[in-house]
Amino acid sequence: MKYTAIVLAGGSGSRMKSKVKKQYLQMGDYPVLWYSLAVLEKSSRIDEIVLVCGKGEQEQCRSLFVDTYGFQKIVKVVEGGKERYHSVYEGLKAAKGCDYVLIHDGARPFLDEEMLVRLTAALPIWNACVVGMPVKDTIKLADPDTGCVQATPDRSLLWTIQTPQAFRYDLIRSAYDTLIQEESAGTLTQKVTDDAMVAERAGASVKLIEGSYNNIKITTPEDLVFARAILETR
Ligand code: C5P
Repeated sequence: MKYTAIVLAGGSGSRMKSKVKKQYLQMGDYPVLWYSLAVLEKSSRIDEIVLVCGKGEQEQCRSLFVDTYGFQKIVKVVEGGKERYHSVYEGLKAAKGCDYVLIHDGARPFLDEEMLVRLTAALPIWNACVVGMPVKDTIKLADPDTGCVQATPDRSLLWTIQTPQAFRYDLIRSAYDTLIQEESAGTLTQKVTDDAMVAERAGASVKLIEGSYNNIKITTPEDLVFARAILETR
């Protein structure tokens, strides 16, 4: 069975308010993106990596991560698209031929081997698995018109969702093919914020797997402060 990781680094990182895109910002001795690539490179669970970068960044990305840092599992560096799901679709096309894909945000540097073990152990059983953690805060559903609380869902059933999100290739590829067709036809009404929801729309049951509270996504400057603190504890 062949497991391919798709690592997404095609975002513009506008919320970081920095000239350098968040995945290339320095954290400790390396850029943010290096850390998850290093875990995937070292893991016996992963066979190949497809790196999805921003427009016009392919050569720079290949030179940095393949030549300079020597990540040998990176078999393809492809250009992403406008939205995250367009970038995932480019990654999926490039990963054709594998049995399972793990889709990971390059902006989440604290992926770890234990998470990969839990995910890949569950994958052949469930075919669609995502890492996340039970929420610690109470979550409210807001009324879009008034901004008042509409409902308070039972906290014990709520999870905050992270990446990697892992799927049998055929399942997620066909779910994404449908999504992209709907977008072209102008019938896509839902905002797509993760890969699990693409699988859910196609009728898949998605298994929740324990991730880690440290598996944060670096989005704003405050996140980088947290990330550097987590790094120091390692
Ligand atoms: O924008 P967001 O924080 O949701 O991005 C999550 C991940 O998806 C990041 O690693 C980012 O680089 C990637 N991304 C992408 N292509 C886009 C938008 C985001 O590869 N068009």
